[in-house]
Amino acid sequence: MGRCVQTAKCELICVGTELLLGDILNTNARFAARELAALGIDQLRQCVVGDNPERLRADFLCAWARADIVLLSGGLGSTADDITRQSVCAALGIQLEESAELLAEIQSFFMRRAQPMPQSNARQACVPKDARAFVPGQSTPSAADATYYFPNPNGTAPGLAIVREQKCAVLLPGPPSEFEPMFTHSVRDFLRPWTDGVLVSHTVRTMGIGESDMAERLADLLEGSNPTVAPYAKVGEAIVRVTARAESAQAAEERIAPILAQIRARLGAHVYGVDAESLEAVLVQRLTERGQTLSTAESLTGGGIAQRITAVAGASNVLSGSAVTYCDQSKRSVLGVHAQTLADHSAVSEQVATEMAENVRRQLGTDYALATTGYAGPDDPELHAWVALASERDTVTEHIRFARRDRAANRLYTENAALRLLWQALGTS
Ligand code: ATP
Ligand code: MG
Repeated sequence: MGRCVQTAKCELICVGTELLLGDILNTNARFAARELAALGIDQLRQCVVGDNPERLRADFLCAWARADIVLLSGGLGSTADDITRQSVCAALGIQLEESAELLAEIQSFFMRRAQPMPQSNARQACVPKDARAFVPGQSTPSAADATYYFPNPNGTAPGLAIVREQKCAVLLPGPPSEFEPMFTHSVRDFLRPWTDGVLVSHTVRTMGIGESDMAERLADLLEGSNPTVAPYAKVGEAIVRVTARAESAQAAEERIAPILAQIRARLGAHVYGVDAESLEAVLVQRLTERGQTLSTAESLTGGGIAQRITAVAGASNVLSGSAVTYCDQSKRSVLGVHAQTLADHSAVSEQVATEMAENVRRQLGTDYALATTGYAGPDDPELHAWVALASERDTVTEHIRFARRDRAANRLYTENAALRLLWQALGTS
């Protein structure tokens, strides 16, 4: 169906020694990856290089030989370690020249902040000779040889673009507060001659099914190439992403629709959302629609469930309150768990989880209440947990045995198990 889409190939080079040292997270790479995918541009490689002119030049020239687009992030600032502009222009044999117009813009950036302009910032007014401003909506994107700069309303370093023989190098400032808006406002439009199609993805999120079980059910679909169907796992959650490439978003959606329907049919009630932000967001929405409320009594998860629910806008319609009762004493005094129950069964038991859930539900007068109690490790001799969901109808419990001594993962797994109990209850009542 449709015509064959020619796909431009892009390589990303992030410049900065602090990225190599692990001082900062490479969020520009993630941002660019998503943007490029949405533009239908194939990203073939990402590389990180320190503030070193020789290595940057070598990496740039390799990327330039292989790709249609080389995107660079960082090193456009005013200090001596900012080498991207000089290195790339030297590699391509392009001369830099101070632009009077840009110098005035940089001066006015400092004037607006009532600060004197450091002399070193004048370097940022140096752009390729004859570079024109690329103004989205006004300039026409073109693959003909030329050089451009992108105005930077959020900082002083302009972005740069060099087009040579149908290829382009795009240089953007490193700070995400400048990189991201410059990409969205200018680069998307600028790259139009290199985009001949779009990629559209949808993410199916599931609960209560393992990644391998899911992959088995979808085995034949995983072989497809357009759309591609790719499973992956997060703690306590299996996810499948369906991606199609086509000449328009609508054509891509048409390719995806029958595959999505198949996936839904095969995974059935395990699917809690397509493109859903999170399970807690789905739960807040469902409870809000039904006018129902929730409370939690948390031991092992230490308020983690309440934290996730309250992170969702509109949680106040749903969450009445939460008790973090970590020791036996507080389970008794705050929740009214019977001393006898604790003595007979221990704090990590089905009976205690049940009383915690039922009691907090009664005390706070909510439709549902979730409780967690358990040993998350790493040093406890036995690692396991109980979760309980109390409702007007009944109380359901689930026992979890942890396979690993990973405290953070076990806590997260328990939160997910509790949220899944609630989601299952909402699906069936
Ligand atoms: P400046 O004018 O601020 O020096 P620049 O274009 O020279 O900008 P860098 O010096 O490379 O950019 O980086 C400046 C800051 O931007 C870094 O200290 C870091 O906080 C952030 N930054 C740089 N690269 C990235 C990246 N790939 N992902 C996330 N943040 C980044
Ligand atoms: Mg810098």
